[in-house]
Amino acid sequence: MTEPVLTVEGLEAWYGESHILHGVSFEVPPGQIVTLLGRNGAGKTTTLRSIMGLVKKRKGSVRHQGEELIALPANRIARSGIAYCPEERGIFSSLNVKENLQLPPTIADGGMSLDRVYELFPILKTRGASQGTKLSGGEQQMLAIARILRTGARILLLDEPTEGLAPVIVQQIGTIITRLKEEGFTILLVEQNFRFAEKTGDLHYVVEHGEVVDRFERAQVAGNRDKITRYLGV
Ligand code: ATP
Repeated sequence: MTEPVLTVEGLEAWYGESHILHGVSFEVPPGQIVTLLGRNGAGKTTTLRSIMGLVKKRKGSVRHQGEELIALPANRIARSGIAYCPEERGIFSSLNVKENLQLPPTIADGGMSLDRVYELFPILKTRGASQGTKLSGGEQQMLAIARILRTGARILLLDEPTEGLAPVIVQQIGTIITRLKEEGFTILLVEQNFRFAEKTGDLHYVVEHGEVVDRFERAQVAGNRDKITRYLGV
């Protein structure tokens, strides 16, 4: 078996006094699309934020190619080559598309060039001078993904990239994510849209009450559909 690129073990996290994660454990193999599935409030977003060092009180282990990240500050974790695209997308609404793409700091290896970004997302070139706020939901999501590609990160943590988007745009996002995988990126995806997760993901973990309670490889999904649907309460 290939070494995982990211190993999360016994991850716990708190918001103030609230104990939210109770020991999340899972592995992300290189070059795969891995999803975290689960109901609202299960702890998926908190897991991504804890990996990125954005939750102050956390413990356990997060290893990136053997390097322990759990005690590092968020900027060091980002510089190790992991990028996070939050559900609210994190783009600057007062800046235009091109400015948004020029802003992200790049890590040592250098990020994706603007030309490459425009090749992946032609719409962003067309919309270059438009302000962040003037973009459609789908365009904003593409800009958000494009921004993290500019950093040069090879592991992308995406929180519900399909949220609130029309089916045709969801499909476009799926095509882009799959293309990024083919180019060697590793993607950890939080998803509420199970149909999207199923189509896109290679490996799925179910999060429940702040723990990973089950795991399904792509080939196991069809035979476990009822079980997974029960987990998700859909
Ligand atoms: P969702 O899809 O609704 O975001 P989730 O699985 O991502 O669900 P989290 O957002 O990780 O769940 O939330 C886990 C729990 O932590 C929830 O009970 C939520 O109310 C709580 N929580 C999230 N953010 C905070 C915060 N900033 N302060 C306090 N509690 C929080």
